[in-house]
Amino acid sequence: MSSIETQPRSVSQTQQYEECSWRFYLQRVERVVPRPAAWSHHGTAFHAVAEAFELSGRTMSEEEAVQLFSDRYSALVNKSLEVEPDTDRWLSAGRVGGGEDIERRYALGLEQVKHYVTDWADGHPTNTWSTPDGKPGLELYFMVELGGVRVRGYIDQLVDDGDGSVRPRDWKTGSMKSKFQLQTYGVAVRKRYGVEVNKADWYLAKDGRLSRPVRMDGVREEDVAERFAAMDAGVKRGDFPASPAFHCRFCDVSHACSFIQRVAT
Ligand code: SF4
Repeated sequence: MSSIETQPRSVSQTQQYEECSWRFYLQRVERVVPRPAAWSHHGTAFHAVAEAFELSGRTMSEEEAVQLFSDRYSALVNKSLEVEPDTDRWLSAGRVGGGEDIERRYALGLEQVKHYVTDWADGHPTNTWSTPDGKPGLELYFMVELGGVRVRGYIDQLVDDGDGSVRPRDWKTGSMKSKFQLQTYGVAVRKRYGVEVNKADWYLAKDGRLSRPVRMDGVREEDVAERFAAMDAGVKRGDFPASPAFHCRFCDVSHACSFIQRVAT
């Protein structure tokens, strides 16, 4: 328990704790092995392509991008199949079984990659911001203190808006969007680099477009810090209540949870 009490926090940890603290406990304290989900591999493989494509200065060809997605997705799926060979036990959304979802997301991911590197990129020239020491703002790691809590994360892309401000961008393959995530990135970038952040947005792979910008100029550090501080205090108190609800259907440690049987079936 000591490491979970003292380790830095992240947006995903905080959101997980807020949604169901028991899930946080099962995953991060009890170390229950989560059930795999093709949606997670789809997201990781798409990110790998977007990062490599932007890092190449958009010189990577569609063929190379497709190959990278294919290699990365297959490797991730195969690794998970070693842990859980029964695809009926994989998580999937809707009525689609795990095996079918693996196939479906492979085809979907390939289409999304092609669209991103060809159609979308052609119509949307984008300058990636670089840190003062020359690191490109792609999968950029940060660690800052917010409300007395060390918070860390990786920002998919920092776009140079050309007016002295920087725009955090998150690449999304799923449909769950988190303003808290963008707000945390904005606050962290301001704090770490002293640059202005007025807007943030999502690239929505599902729709093949950018979201409307989320305004960041009114976002104060203390508003974001409050949520990290509350989560951190809860973990330190050992406070892990279960919150069974609709989201149990997408919970990757539900197989180890007794609360789901009472409410969510
Ligand atoms: S199954 Fe539901 S109640 Fe149990 S840990 Fe997961 S989200 Fe929480």
